[in-house]
Amino acid sequence: MQIIPYSCQDIDDEDISAVVDILKSPMLTQGPTVSAFENLTSEYVGASYAVATNSATSALHIACLALGVSAGDLVWTTAISFVASANCAIYCGADIDFVDINLQTNNMCPFALEQKLEEAQKIGKLPKVIIPVHMCGSPANIKRINELSKIFKFKIIEDASHAFGASISDRKVGNCEFSDITIFSFHPVKMITTGEGGMAVTNDKEAYKALKSLRTHGIVGETNEMLPTPDHEIWNYQQIGLGYNYRLTDIQAALGISQIAKINRFVSIRNSIANNYKENLRSDYFSFQLVPSSNLSSYHLFTIQTTKERQVPLYRELRKKGILVNLHYIPIYRHPFYERLGFKQGYCPNAEEYFQKILSIPISTKLTESQQSYIIKILNSTQT
Ligand SMILES: *Cc1c(COP(=O)(O)O)cnc(C)c1O
Repeated sequence: MQIIPYSCQDIDDEDISAVVDILKSPMLTQGPTVSAFENLTSEYVGASYAVATNSATSALHIACLALGVSAGDLVWTTAISFVASANCAIYCGADIDFVDINLQTNNMCPFALEQKLEEAQKIGKLPKVIIPVHMCGSPANIKRINELSKIFKFKIIEDASHAFGASISDRKVGNCEFSDITIFSFHPVKMITTGEGGMAVTNDKEAYKALKSLRTHGIVGETNEMLPTPDHEIWNYQQIGLGYNYRLTDIQAALGISQIAKINRFVSIRNSIANNYKENLRSDYFSFQLVPSSNLSSYHLFTIQTTKERQVPLYRELRKKGILVNLHYIPIYRHPFYERLGFKQGYCPNAEEYFQKILSIPISTKLTESQQSYIIKILNSTQT
């Protein structure tokens, strides 16, 4: 029986030799290759600055810190995402809260957000930062969220872990036109990979400087960033705040540079697979995430919506047949850690409904046409 994972990386000989070249070079970490990868990324997405990190989770953490999130602050994210979208606020000592999703787009619902903001304003508990997630690679309504940010005075971090290569009206996600910082993930299941890795991009010079120093222990190296020091002492760097070791290696960055060259091809392959699924899966059995026609999804994930009755049997049946369907995601607040913070089942009704109807089916640049046909055949014929 063939086993088909829900996602997998796409590494070729070029990628491998790029990594081997660095292993033979004098510098293995945080050298010229990391800078080159940062420049290529900011150029590709159309942002002014980029800071590479060892994961998107690290990037989210220092993005929150760079925007001043600390104990007592409030951060909101969407109820349906990977836990990292919320954990970053907890790392900073802030309180987290969740906005319900729209059942069609599966992204943070702008109406639910507006209503929640109005209520929060009344009790004086507005969030400092909101973290929308571009679910499956389909951009959230960031323009509307940006309009609300002007009224209710919050900052925006786009969690674009799924959405490298996606665009809104032909403008790449990550250009930060409607946000303060955007973060990307280069985990192997994501759009391109560096093994582990992430990136924060921004147009805000102050945020950029903060991100850079937070990534490396809170250290700065430029004389104009240091506090004055005695002339007879050697101060070639200074720790000006508390930061972390969140560095990406040159080994990983070399892989990133080699991978980024393929991103448009990867997005286009994933879009053809998504179209094939949408055209050939039974529309009386399944419905799909709505991607507004002005947007291009990167299709990191492909989700199908079935019924509450069919979801669990279908999940078990497909796994038995080697099709490793998955579930993205359990509402974050349902996890025991978040339940202990006081969140209750049913808190975001749409998110709960989504959770009980959704399945992720395999999508990757390596998924062959015959595998796609096999998956479609099994899904269309499985009576549960
Ligand atoms: C994968 C993912 C992350 C974390 O990415 P890492 O690079 O593994 O730290 C954060 N947010 C979302 C929505 C993700 O899917």
